[in-house]
Amino acid sequence: MSPPMKSALSDWKIVDSVLYYKDHAYVSPTARHDLLRHLHDHPTAGHPGRFKTEELVKRDYWWPGLGAYVRKYVDGCSLCQQMKADTHPVTPPLVPIPSDATVPFASLSVDLIMDLPPSGGFDSIMVVVDHGLMKGVIITPCLKTITSEGVAKLFFKHVYRRFGLYDKIISDRGPQFISTVTCKTVTMFGTFLVYTLLCLYAWKSHFMLVKDIGEPTPGYT
Ligand SMILES: [Zn+2]
Repeated sequence: MSPPMKSALSDWKIVDSVLYYKDHAYVSPTARHDLLRHLHDHPTAGHPGRFKTEELVKRDYWWPGLGAYVRKYVDGCSLCQQMKADTHPVTPPLVPIPSDATVPFASLSVDLIMDLPPSGGFDSIMVVVDHGLMKGVIITPCLKTITSEGVAKLFFKHVYRRFGLYDKIISDRGPQFISTVTCKTVTMFGTFLVYTLLCLYAWKSHFMLVKDIGEPTPGYT
């Protein structure tokens, strides 16, 4: 609607003590807030948005600067602010890591927290969190200079030997780190397995030899 400065006198009329501009009732400054409360806040209005509220007001009313007034009113509405969808969230929402693990530490994350106050000769910790079955945490002290091989050693000793190899591993240190830790852990397991088998074979050979010779040997009979 055109501003009143460009309007002709015929645009204005008074009916029953109400001033109309182009058939829209002029709303005095003291009545504007109540009108908005009726057209925006009322339960039947349902807090429409800025443009819808402005459209509702413009159907029957007019005053100079109506659009700006409505925008300010809607922007200042506490309920609208609460209900407004945040399209630019500062932090992403927390999403649980999906897991169908049936054993502990089958789905886990491994990360290093570094530069902690020195304690017992260590300044960092390796944190392994089970994201599957039990949400357990294994914290192992280490040094910030630890290499991926060092992480693999700690991982092998404190996690792998107790819970086996994981199905899924997550780390913010990137796929290269994960790949290296996994390869070295599996290599260590291979060495451990070969060593165990060799020990077993040596023990069995010794036992059979002792049996053949017929010498009683303490601890093996
Ligand atoms: Zn509102």
